[in-house]
Amino acid sequence: MNFKEYIRVIEDFPQPGISFKDITTLLNNGPVYREVIQELARQLKNKQIDLIAGPEARGFVIGAPLAVELGVGFVPIRKSGKLPGKTIEADYALEYGKDKLAMHDDAIKPGQKVLIADDLLATGGTIATSINLVNQLGGDVIGAAFLIELEELNGREKLGAIDIVSLVKY
Ligand code: 5GP
Repeated sequence: MNFKEYIRVIEDFPQPGISFKDITTLLNNGPVYREVIQELARQLKNKQIDLIAGPEARGFVIGAPLAVELGVGFVPIRKSGKLPGKTIEADYALEYGKDKLAMHDDAIKPGQKVLIADDLLATGGTIATSINLVNQLGGDVIGAAFLIELEELNGREKLGAIDIVSLVKY
C-alpha cells in the first residue's frame, strides 16, 4: 500500500519554512491506519520486545495500537508535569521548540527490551530523549519504529546503532 498518498503536507506549519506532514488524513481511514500498524508489526515480528514506549501525542497513536498488535505493554512518555506518579525527566529540543519529557520511574524494569515508536523521525531529538529515559531506568532500547522518516534531517545518525524501521520516506 502506498501510505504516502494518505498523508497531507501542509506548508509553513507551525512556522514559515516547515513542510508539515499531517497524518490525520491517514488516521481518518480505518483500513489504511490498520495496515500501517500491521505492516510495522510484520517488520518487527522477529524482535524480542517486552514493551513499547511512545512520546505524546502522536507516539501514542502509533505506539499503543502497535503494542496491542504485538501483545506487549505500552509506556507513555509525556511532557513534564502530566504524569500522576513519580517520574524521571530528560531535556529535549524539537525541530522547533524545547521542553522536558517524563516517564513514570517504575514503568520499565532493568533489562527489559524496549522499542520506541513515534509518527515521525525528523532530527531524532525526541527519540534520543526517549532513549535517555529508558536507559535511566536500566531498559535496553532495541529499536525504533516510525510511520514517517524525514531523511534529509539525518535523525538516524543521532540514534547510533539501534535498528530503525520507517514506512514512508521524504
Ligand atoms: P525530532 O525530535 O525527530 O526532530 O521531531 C520529531 C517529533 O516532532 C515527533 O514527535 C513528531 O510528532 C514531531 N514532528 C516534527 N515534524 C513533524 C511533521 O512534519 N509532521 C508530524 N506529524 N510530526 C512532526
